[in-house]
Amino acid sequence: MNFVFPPAPTPALAVAGSAARFPIRRVFCVGRNYADHAREMGAHEQADGREPPFFFSKPADAVVPGGDVPYPPATANLQHEIELVVALGKGGADIPVAQALDCVFGYAVGLDLTRRDVQARAKEKGHPWDMGKGFDASAPTGEIHPVAAIGHPQAGSIWLKVNGETRQSGDLANMSWKVAEVIANLSTFVRLAPGDLIFTGTPAGVSTVVRGDTLDGGVAGVGEFSIRLV
Ligand code: MN
Repeated sequence: MNFVFPPAPTPALAVAGSAARFPIRRVFCVGRNYADHAREMGAHEQADGREPPFFFSKPADAVVPGGDVPYPPATANLQHEIELVVALGKGGADIPVAQALDCVFGYAVGLDLTRRDVQARAKEKGHPWDMGKGFDASAPTGEIHPVAAIGHPQAGSIWLKVNGETRQSGDLANMSWKVAEVIANLSTFVRLAPGDLIFTGTPAGVSTVVRGDTLDGGVAGVGEFSIRLV
C-alpha cells in the first residue's frame, strides 16, 4: 500500500506469559456501571435499580502502558477511575448474553483518566464528552491476562490507592451490567471485532490527582497496575 506518509503504529498491549502483543482496534467505555459511583456522580436512582448501559469511546492510541504518564493539558481536575478492562479476541453483532464471554480473549486492569471539569462543563451544555474522556494517554492499561490463564473474574476486590492511600475500594460483583451483558448490549450498537477493548466502569471513590502522584490499582484475579503522573 502506498500512503502519503507512514501510517501510525498499531497500538498494542503486552500479553502476560507471551511474547506476542494484543493489537488494539477500538476502545469502548461503560458509564456509571456501579451504583455507588453513579450516586457520587449525582445520577438519580432508577425504579428497577439500574439504568440501561451507555457507552463512550477513547481513541485506540489513548491506551498507554504503566509507568510514567503525562499529566494532560487543559484541566484543573484530573480524576482516576480504576476499571476491569475486557479484551475481545472475537466479535460480532447482536451477540447473545449466553455467548458473549466466548468473545473475550483476556482481562486487564486499566485507568479511565478523566478531565472531570471538562466533562462537567460538557454535561451542563449537552456537549460531547470526548475532550473530557478521550485525550492523549487517557487510558493507561496493564498487561492482558488471557482467559486461558485466569478464567472470567466475576467477583472480588477492585481498588485504587493514590500515594499509598486507598481511594477506591469496590467489588466486581457490584457491576450493574455484568461483562457478558455489556458485550451483548454494545454489540447491538456496533459490530464488535477482535482487538476491541471495553472499560467496564468504576466503583465509588474517584478523586482528584496531581502531577507527581503515584496511582496503584488492582483487580482480584487479574492483577495489579501502577502509574506515576509526570
Ligand atoms: Mn469510567
